[in-house]
Amino acid sequence: MQKTDEQWREELSPEEYAVLRQAGTERAFTGAYTDTETKGVYSCKACHAKLFESDTKFHSGCGWPSFYQPISDTIEYIEDNTLGMKRVEVRCANCGSHLGHVFPDGYGTPTGDRYCINSISLTLEPADGADAS
Ligand SMILES: [Zn+2]
Repeated sequence: MQKTDEQWREELSPEEYAVLRQAGTERAFTGAYTDTETKGVYSCKACHAKLFESDTKFHSGCGWPSFYQPISDTIEYIEDNTLGMKRVEVRCANCGSHLGHVFPDGYGTPTGDRYCINSISLTLEPADGADAS
């Protein structure tokens, strides 16, 4: 999926644009989904591709929603050496929007990975019957 920068600016709020299209980071503990436990599927805010199942979300205490595994083939990985750190950026494979970073730091998850994702990059679609609060 290809959109021009102008189209993205029209479709996204300034806050969404800054994170999704300019690889910004929302402030820790400010996002809508940091501690959410609602069952459902998290999809890309920009293109609505399904990215993470709520079953793979866990409490890392880092201030952003954390997942240990994406839905297969939904994520693009890019080496990120900005800010003097060697990190792996994760983007939506469908539209190329920035989601966050993945860290191999364990937390006792089944994969040992922590996908640290901006809430503003995601939309939660609650499962049928799930409490949306
Ligand atoms: Zn997307």
